[in-house]
Amino acid sequence: MFAPRLLDFQKTKYARFMNHRVPAHKRYQPTEYEHAANCATHALWIIPSILGSSNLYLLSDDDWETISAWIYGLGLCGLFVVSTVFHTISWKKSHLRMVEHCLHMFDRMVIYFFIAASYPNTEGIWELMTGGVFYCLGMVFFKSDGRIPFAHAIWHLFVAFGAGTHYYAIWRYLYLPSTVQAKVSK
Ligand SMILES: [Zn+2]
Repeated sequence: MFAPRLLDFQKTKYARFMNHRVPAHKRYQPTEYEHAANCATHALWIIPSILGSSNLYLLSDDDWETISAWIYGLGLCGLFVVSTVFHTISWKKSHLRMVEHCLHMFDRMVIYFFIAASYPNTEGIWELMTGGVFYCLGMVFFKSDGRIPFAHAIWHLFVAFGAGTHYYAIWRYLYLPSTVQAKVSK
């Protein structure tokens, strides 16, 4: 939004990596390079998100933590799986972009809900805010499609960083046994 006005990639050699900007009612048309990057940047995180969720499940020591691990884990894995499937198979209609965007928003909301519900003190607040900042910065790229090469794939990476930071906060403050927590903070 800001940087793209200063730097017009359409006039550089990087333009071949980038689709042309399309009007809102038209389809999103990534270049072949961008299409591959869009799939890869989220496909990459499917296995780690499954492993991470299993880890929380194994660390659970009461029903609430087990249920939380399931719901959070399904949300986290679902985010990357659904996004990858969209990009791989049916990235044809522009409204799917909004579906994807809503999914990311939903994912963030679920995380904040869990934190608020299960951990009413301020531990982990910095990690949560950092994750939120990643997400907001990513929005700049989400809206810069056709102005910055690989803008959508960059947005994917920011989403992954944000999700990773939030995972860290949940793992450390909600699931890690307090004896280990003390060691981690030293
Ligand atoms: Zn996407």
